[in-house]
Amino acid sequence: SHSVGIVGLPNVGKSTLFNAITQAGAESANYPFCTIDPNVGVVQVPDERLVKLTELVVPKSVVPTAFEFVDIAGLVKGASRGEGLGNKFLANIREVDAIAHVVRCFVDENITHVSGKVDPISDIQTINLELVLADLDSVEKRADRVKKMLKANDKKVQQEYDLLVRLQTALENEKPARSVELSDDDKIIMKGIHLLTSKPVLYVANVSEEEITDVENNPYVKIVKEFAAQEGSGVVVISAKVESEIAELEGEDKAMFLEELGIEESGLDQLIKAAYKLLGLYTYFTAGVQEVRAWTIRKGMKAPQAAGVIHTDFERGFIRAEVIHYDELVQVGSMVAAKEKGLVRLEGKEYVVNDGDVMLFRFNV
Ligand code: GDP
Repeated sequence: SHSVGIVGLPNVGKSTLFNAITQAGAESANYPFCTIDPNVGVVQVPDERLVKLTELVVPKSVVPTAFEFVDIAGLVKGASRGEGLGNKFLANIREVDAIAHVVRCFVDENITHVSGKVDPISDIQTINLELVLADLDSVEKRADRVKKMLKANDKKVQQEYDLLVRLQTALENEKPARSVELSDDDKIIMKGIHLLTSKPVLYVANVSEEEITDVENNPYVKIVKEFAAQEGSGVVVISAKVESEIAELEGEDKAMFLEELGIEESGLDQLIKAAYKLLGLYTYFTAGVQEVRAWTIRKGMKAPQAAGVIHTDFERGFIRAEVIHYDELVQVGSMVAAKEKGLVRLEGKEYVVNDGDVMLFRFNV
């Protein structure tokens, strides 16, 4: 499954945001997943293309794609040394595919800040440092082991050792593992090392409800954006408090509230879209009269694997796929018209699926 962990110091708005996420999940009618873990919230990915396909096909049901947010509480200074819930915290981060790092950008005298004042960069660095230290520990241990296996002419072991040395240097300089440039071979080795700071990060700047319509004037947001740009990470600006109010509304009420606030899209929807992108995921569609549905795949997946997301039988018995890209389908207006014009392609086992492909699979059972 695909999941994003929500991290941040205490009192920055994580729980408020996470409650908005679970609330929004509970409100949606088509909820194909079920979870009993209170720290996991499933969100549906808003996708305008799904709305358009529904208009074209008029199916009996519509199912968006979804992924998980995991509330990872408990990070304090010293977590990498096992302080507080440190070890559990780090283990939870190890399991997610990407990180949404909530940063406090709102000033509120009544809400204590752990370090005494609002200082987003210092907050970010506090957390990043714990992750860096935890990784440094793993890398040092592994480098010791690999060093013992170093023999003349064992290229693979040498390559891993060289990478570990480079990682160690970066981490010692308090730079995340994701800042180290990797060759294709390195990337494969990295998968086996499981580092926390190699996961992609998105910073979530939490501003006050008054400032959400005027984020450009929030000085904290500005410095978070600069910091993120430097390390190649993204930023989403939200007001967790406003999101928790929006999450209780639906349809017309929600649209009206957003209009009153003067925003087009809720912060949560922006966050979901940004997180989905961060995970490196693509969406393809199936569009039958019974059901129009969005499916999640990893970039680079071939047609049989993509079919396997629907059902393992589809992958095993894959023969071929009928494919048309969403843009083309919308242009001609219907599947029938697309077929008449010869726009529906027949693709085989080697076809690499694109984001936005509309697919019909032929398979043996
Ligand atoms: P966590 O410890 O990171 O999970 O933080 P919480 O979500 O529990 O929030 C800590 C406090 O900050 C709570 O009293 C929230 O109501 C408050 N809070 C969260 N977001 C905002 C915000 O956007 N504006 C203001 N004024 N308070 C907020």
